[in-house]
Amino acid sequence: MLLEEGLAVIEGGGEAVLGRDDLADCLRRGPSVDEPLFRAASAVLSRTVGPWVFVRGIVEMTNACRKNCYYCGLRSDHSALPRYSMPFEEIAAAIESGWAAGLRSFLLQSGELLGEPHIALVEKVLRWADESWGDSVRMVLSTGELPRAALERLKAAGGGRYLLRIETSDPVLYAKLHPRDGLHRFEERIQCLRNLRKGGWQAGSGVLIGVPWQTEESLAGDLLFLRDFGIDMCGMGPWIEHSGTPLYASRHEAPSRERRVSLTLRMIALLRILMPDINMSATTALQTLTPTGLERGLAAGANVFMPNLTPTRYRLDYNLYEGKTVVPDRIEDVLDRMSARCAAMGRTVVPGEVGDPLHFTKAPPVYSPPGEEGVGDHDDQVH
Ligand code: SAH
Ligand code: SF4
Repeated sequence: MLLEEGLAVIEGGGEAVLGRDDLADCLRRGPSVDEPLFRAASAVLSRTVGPWVFVRGIVEMTNACRKNCYYCGLRSDHSALPRYSMPFEEIAAAIESGWAAGLRSFLLQSGELLGEPHIALVEKVLRWADESWGDSVRMVLSTGELPRAALERLKAAGGGRYLLRIETSDPVLYAKLHPRDGLHRFEERIQCLRNLRKGGWQAGSGVLIGVPWQTEESLAGDLLFLRDFGIDMCGMGPWIEHSGTPLYASRHEAPSRERRVSLTLRMIALLRILMPDINMSATTALQTLTPTGLERGLAAGANVFMPNLTPTRYRLDYNLYEGKTVVPDRIEDVLDRMSARCAAMGRTVVPGEVGDPLHFTKAPPVYSPPGEEGVGDHDDQVH
């Protein structure tokens, strides 16, 4: 079947299998594929998740990191960056400001730290949120690869969701994007994602899009990895250069920024088609590269956005990439503006919903290629 025919079938509610070649082909095509692709993804979205847009308030609790990823401004060798760590009281106040504005889900993000003070602080925040709001709140962590014991501790303290991007499903590309120093091992990252699911977390992942040396085939492989693993949530966004990182020197080997936006939107749409019932965010990086990133991400199949609750004075130092704008806005005003923008495109922001991913709550059967062991140890799922 031709790609366009397959997309029309999907839009109409029928079944059409998009294989690796179709996915790569779709990512490679000219602009004429966008309309049928986004229409198909929107149709899938409205049949499953519906028009709702879930909200997570982000608190970037510390920009200290033990790792040294070649693309990231928080890497430990980036000595020009002033480091901060928010104390418990400030983290709690940031979350409370979001709660007062009606938010019911919060994402704690940080560099990767394994020391006891950091783990104990995350644990304290989770316990406090659990004691304050119980089942009315969903806390999400994105704090890097943690050992099993730490994950168990954080789960027991009230953690429920975890985001750990694999960055790429291609081990060779992974090795080009990270130092070979034993701290950055592809297999360990995948194992950590497995541990999360075995531990009963709602497991989220995603990839960087448009990094140097990445091909459309590699991105197609990413989509299949995410599907075969059976993730519950996805956040994937464009790579954005940072002059303080080693990858900056190879920026000419990356697609243009416009192309990175286009690839990101197509990746969102294709993943929505492959995984109709997951939650997927229109990421801050996408919104950084295009002012209408929120609308374009939602129109391509995303159903989550994440306003920032980090106090303004820390925000510029949470410097993953360049071009992050910091506008000292009240969360209420941000929500009003975002809600109006979503309403203008027929979508409804529901900040008061915890928005558990249907993929997790309903646990439909997960695809596993015949004759191959699924990448996610499906038999072990704890759903
Ligand atoms: N330290 C944790 C969480 C914070 S970093 C971790 O790495 O998992 C969160 C994400 O930021 C990373 O997964 C990476 O995909 C993204 N990121 C880092 N540098 C970036 C850049 N230059 N452009 C776009 N995204 C970037
Ligand atoms: Fe640290 Fe995460 Fe940045 Fe890697 S991507 S350097 S782990 S903050």
